[in-house]
Amino acid sequence: MTDRTDVDRIRDAVDLVALIGEHVPLRPKGREHVGLCPFHDDHTPSLAVVTHKGNAFYKCHACAAAGDAYNFVQDYHKMTFPEALKFLADRTGITLSRGRNVPRTSTRPAGSELRRANAVAASFYREVLAGDPRGATARTMVCDRGIDDDTARQFMIGAAPDQWESLAPHAARQDVSIAALVGAGLLKPRSGGNGHYDTFRNRLIFPICDELGRPVAFGGRALDPDDEPKYLNSPESPVFHKSRTLYGLHLAKRAVIDTRQVIVTEGYTDVVACHQAGLPNVVATLGTSLTTDHVRILTRLCEEVVLVFDGDEAGRRAADRAVALFFAEPIDVKICVLPEGLDPADLLALTDGVERFRAAVDAATDALEYKVSRLQVELRAARGHAGRQRSLAKLLAELAGLGFDRLPGVRKRPVIAQLADLLKVRIEDIEQAMPRGRSEPPRSRVARTDADTEHSVETTALWSEQADVPPARRLAERELLGVLIYQPSLRHQLGGEEPGEPGEPDVMASVLEPQRFMDPALRRVAEAVWTWLARDDSFTVQQLMAALDDPGLRNLAGELYIEAECRLEAGEQTPAEFLRDRFNALRRLDSRELYRRDLDAYRRSRDTSGDGALEKLLEQRRKQGYIPEALPTRGRT
Ligand SMILES: [Zn+2]
Repeated sequence: MTDRTDVDRIRDAVDLVALIGEHVPLRPKGREHVGLCPFHDDHTPSLAVVTHKGNAFYKCHACAAAGDAYNFVQDYHKMTFPEALKFLADRTGITLSRGRNVPRTSTRPAGSELRRANAVAASFYREVLAGDPRGATARTMVCDRGIDDDTARQFMIGAAPDQWESLAPHAARQDVSIAALVGAGLLKPRSGGNGHYDTFRNRLIFPICDELGRPVAFGGRALDPDDEPKYLNSPESPVFHKSRTLYGLHLAKRAVIDTRQVIVTEGYTDVVACHQAGLPNVVATLGTSLTTDHVRILTRLCEEVVLVFDGDEAGRRAADRAVALFFAEPIDVKICVLPEGLDPADLLALTDGVERFRAAVDAATDALEYKVSRLQVELRAARGHAGRQRSLAKLLAELAGLGFDRLPGVRKRPVIAQLADLLKVRIEDIEQAMPRGRSEPPRSRVARTDADTEHSVETTALWSEQADVPPARRLAERELLGVLIYQPSLRHQLGGEEPGEPGEPDVMASVLEPQRFMDPALRRVAEAVWTWLARDDSFTVQQLMAALDDPGLRNLAGELYIEAECRLEAGEQTPAEFLRDRFNALRRLDSRELYRRDLDAYRRSRDTSGDGALEKLLEQRRKQGYIPEALPTRGRT
């Protein structure tokens, strides 16, 4: 578990206006900053960033977007919470306390040192390519390959000189330690134990970046045709895991999100060529096939992965793997075989290359279909019902080996339907041929949502049966909750010690309990607020937002804060008066509603329960603290 105080400390240290301002132009408006919301198609600046009075949250007035720095980073960069935490910790220079407890050998450089070594190396290689005499051969290759200056800059393409020791002296001037350069795989110790030499020599350099565009490794293409290997990658390091890294993702991300599709090629030169040709949703694996880790990263960004291969044979080899990935994660995996065995860079260099590339991507075959089509030949050859059954069983056994059996029911059913369609057999035939006696599939997401709903039904108390909330009531609830979010110190007023009010300790607190809120959304925000109020603790809006997992509720919390601020800034009432006022309004509404119900119940039961039932009810209500004068006198039935 992450240390809670780390989370708060980092959140406090983030300059939210600066963070959001890096992605969205913001301008000051009053005490807030406003800008175009990046989470919907915004034309009027709808995004407000509130950073005064110790707050730091953003809220869109048009869509559901709202939250703190973590929410922004998670939503904008499609990161998980731990990723966002790490990202913001790095940004604010705060060391996570969990990391501090992990003993680290003193000889091994920390991730931040490795990243700095990589950054320094990237700018060194870049300078060599840009104008250094040692970069002449590399410049010729860049030119021959048709890579323009903008693209080279975007991908930070560089050149390693044809020298054994060129990086180390440069890095030393920038205070980068040899240990960090070795740790990052940029230097290698000489076999005699005497000094170090450059890993990348006489190569065109393609920095490999993480999702945020920081170089974590390098790919080097040999400039001399006789040099081996033709392509050389940095070794894995604490900041570089090739099974989790996709080349070009930091540049492709926005386009992948927008087109909901990612095209995965096999090499970095393919990615560079595609981006330059106006195909920005292209990434590459780094000498591995696509892993489930890659797919998990991509699932957060899009719904369709198109794997590009330069020939049928390569596509066929990858088909099983692609089907297995499709079974592992809910994402469509397609196989695209480029015409005439051309790789993307070669194809795009042709006059009609872009069109042909696009056409090939559009014609990409679903991985399962690709796999099944190969087995169809066999199925067709099988004669008679029994023969077909045997072929089907064989196919299903093969699919089971790729993970079909582990698919949850909700995903299995459409696959079975798809198989039936592809194979031109009935769904029952497939079900019949399925291996028997399998264990239950893991609980699906749908099942979990059901459980969540049950839970929230259970916790909704007093007003759960009420579908329509009267407008006056909703307003009173909103304002009451808003003022408590705006100024949590008002919780001290809940004991009824404010001058001019009857001292009814606990009454106010009990009337304000979350279950008193009729509006379901307000009730859920109130539930979160009460986790602090119940232990007489203060909270900030950003902490409240962090406690709300629904973006709509986070937005609501921000809205309540801003509304309360507007009301109180008007200065007609003090916050305490405002709270009292709304509290009494709510009590009256509560009393009226309860009395109406009590009366209905009394009328219904009058014949059987005899006299005194209404009095008993009223007595009970009085004990519960409802305002007596709001109750009409008896005998009007
Ligand atoms: Zn918005």
